[in-house]
Formats: sequence, structure tokens, C-alpha cells
Amino acid sequence: MSLRNLSINLATVRQQYNLAQAVDACLAQGITSIAPWRDQIHETGLAEAAEIIRSNQMRVTGLCRGGMFPASDRGGLAAAVEDNKRAIDEAAAIGADCLVMVVGGLPKGSRDISAAREMVVDGLAAILPHARAIRMPIAIEPLHPMYAADRACINTLEHALDVCELLGDGVGVAIDAYHVWWDPKLREQIVRAGASNRILAHHICDWLVPTRDLLLDRGMMGDGVIDLRSIRRTIVEAGYDGPQEVEIFSSENWWKRPGEEVLATCIERFHEVCELHEKSFQER
Ligand code: ZN
Repeated sequence: MSLRNLSINLATVRQQYNLAQAVDACLAQGITSIAPWRDQIHETGLAEAAEIIRSNQMRVTGLCRGGMFPASDRGGLAAAVEDNKRAIDEAAAIGADCLVMVVGGLPKGSRDISAAREMVVDGLAAILPHARAIRMPIAIEPLHPMYAADRACINTLEHALDVCELLGDGVGVAIDAYHVWWDPKLREQIVRAGASNRILAHHICDWLVPTRDLLLDRGMMGDGVIDLRSIRRTIVEAGYDGPQEVEIFSSENWWKRPGEEVLATCIERFHEVCELHEKSFQER
């Protein structure tokens, strides 16, 4: 079975591997797509990271992450804009499919989520000319509403697509099943995203019941309650057939296991509960 449509977000094995080790470990199990984080790229050095990725012919399904625009003052927003332009350059240097945006939440001390959302739009508008000039797609990732205060004040696919339409070309969405699975409008909004060619990435993991930590207790596919195959089918029917990217933050479980075991489990579960089997797909 092909692993062409499986990518590993390197947060999944961040406690086990640096970039070079992660690439080797992925290739050893037949995985040829990854999505690194900026701190992992910085730790290796941008030029060396780009060379590791190029020489091993890895596909990079996204660079995580830009964003974090809302700030207490204009200077803070301007600094975020500059940092995001650097992130765009880094994404281009490693040949990423897109730069993923976790847009940011409320500035410290603020209760004004509308203002935060305006700053996000202003920040994105300020970086888009640079992103367009070097052809690096910007992928807004709506996050589950539990992160609205501290990580992202764009919390639904509908809201992310409204912002995309406001901004025009060069911007789309990263659809992370963990963040959007609960949304009653999910199906219609995936169709909408596909119709405007705005699906840039598809992230997967599972929602555990109970979830013991808001950030660091994401589940392996198949261990929770998300119908990952059904979401994948909708995304493929909407026109995106790029890799499914496994992104698991798991401080008490997967981060404590050997990296080899984590990757082997990702592959097994990808086939079991995520991948569309050609036959059943055609029978529909
Ligand atoms: Zn994600």
C-alpha cells in the first residue's frame, strides 16, 4: 500500500527526533512527506534544513507556523508582520506547499476579540503581497474554539473562508480534523473551500474522550471519536487529494514512546481508519 498520501507533521515526533533524524526515520518506513516547525528548521539551520529536504526528495506539506498577529500596540503587530515575512521566506527555502497560520488570540489584558480578529485580517493583508510575489500560499488553520483566547481567534472553517474571500488570492485553509470535526457546517464549508480551490492542507489526529490536556493530549487516529475517513472523503470530493498530515501533540503518551513505534503506528492507523480505499470510493 502506498504511503504517498501520508505526511508526518514533525510535532508528532518532536521529543524523539531533530529534523535530520526525523527524515531518516520517516524514509526508513517509506514515508516521503513531512511538515516541520520553524524551531526545528532554526535548530538545524535554514540552509542545512533545505539541503536535507532537497537531497532526500521529501515533500513538505507545510511549514508550521506563522501567525500570532494580535498585539497590544501597532509596534507589536508590525513586528509580527516582519516575522511572518521571514516565515514565508523560510517556507520557500524548504519548498513547502504552504505556510500554515495559527493566527493568534487576544493580546495580553484584552477582552476585545473583535479587535483581535481585525488585527489578524490586517496582519494577513500586510504579508500577502510578499507571499504572492514569491508564490508561497498562506494556509489559515481554524483552531477549535477552546484556543480562541491564546492561540487563534479564527475558530471555524466558515470564518476562515470569509477571511480568505476578503483577502483574495494567495490564501486558503489548512483543514485540521481535530479542530473542526464538531462543526455542524463542516461538510458545506469543505465543499465551499474546494469550489474556490482554497484547500491547502489536511491535518489529522483524533479527539480523545476524555481529553486530559487542552493542548497536549491529542490522540492517534482510531483512538478517539472523529470519523476521519468520512472527512477525508468530503475533502477529496471537494478536490484536494494531497497528503493527510499526522499532527499529534501528546506529552504523556506518544511523545514518550520510541519514534519508530510512533511512525509505525501512524502508518498502520492511516491505512485502517484514514485512507480512502479505491474500491469503496468508486462504489459510492
Ligand atoms: Zn493542524
